Amino acid sequence: MRIVAPGIAVVPVRTPTLPPATHTNTYVVGEGALSVFDPASPWEDEQQRLAAALQERLDAGERIERIVLTHHHNDHVSGAEALRERFSTPERRLPVVAHPITAGLVADRIAVDEPWNDGQAVECGGRRLVGTFTPGHAPGHLVFQDADGGAMIAGDMVAGIGTILISPDDGDLGQYLDSLQALRDRAPSVLLPAHGEPLPHADALLAFYIAHRHQRSEQIRKALDQQGASTPLELAPRVYPELPPEAWPLGAAQITSHLRWMSRHGLAHPVESGRWAT
Ligand SMILES: [Zn+2]
Repeated sequence: MRIVAPGIAVVPVRTPTLPPATHTNTYVVGEGALSVFDPASPWEDEQQRLAAALQERLDAGERIERIVLTHHHNDHVSGAEALRERFSTPERRLPVVAHPITAGLVADRIAVDEPWNDGQAVECGGRRLVGTFTPGHAPGHLVFQDADGGAMIAGDMVAGIGTILISPDDGDLGQYLDSLQALRDRAPSVLLPAHGEPLPHADALLAFYIAHRHQRSEQIRKALDQQGASTPLELAPRVYPELPPEAWPLGAAQITSHLRWMSRHGLAHPVESGRWAT
């Protein structure tokens, strides 16, 4: 377990996540009473590695107080029930905490016991964490900021490795852009992403993320102007020239999210047979 901010440690666990990332960061917050954020791995060997790291702290006299989920995606929640089973006692069943929307989305896999709502502060072993509702990447996404130190557990709002996918299935680019701005407004001292290393210079990074999405939309608009009405898959090689053909469907999914946002702003509109035009 490695300390990444005052009172916040990390255990990266291997998960079936989106390449080039191979791991999800499980953050352990507090001293004495620990809160475990995103016990992510579905794989038993990785679940055992996380449990062993936590057991070391329990052996030193600490206890686990709760499990917290940033959002419902499988590469974030898949070790939650195993961790609960491992560390619950006959006297106390470990509670799982998440935004109510996330609770609904994982209900078939995980029983969420307590809500964590927008603006709610929770005492986590000597550190007061404030949740902010940040939909866009996922409908029930929350970030958690240390009210004293300023560090922010950022889930999949930003990435230290790879990029954030806004899927047309459960994402919304307009909400994501608003949520990035909400993060800026809270001026985190450091962003602790779910994938990759801690990200300092949070404000500059968030400004870059917002600008990058607008540039991408502009690039899609230009591509539609030049090649005429196109499907997202036809746009993918032009918008993402660096991607190998097998990744075009993923690029097309991202482009679809951009096109939906663009249509709400009068920059593109759907035409026949899955094609879009400006
Ligand atoms: Zn995610």
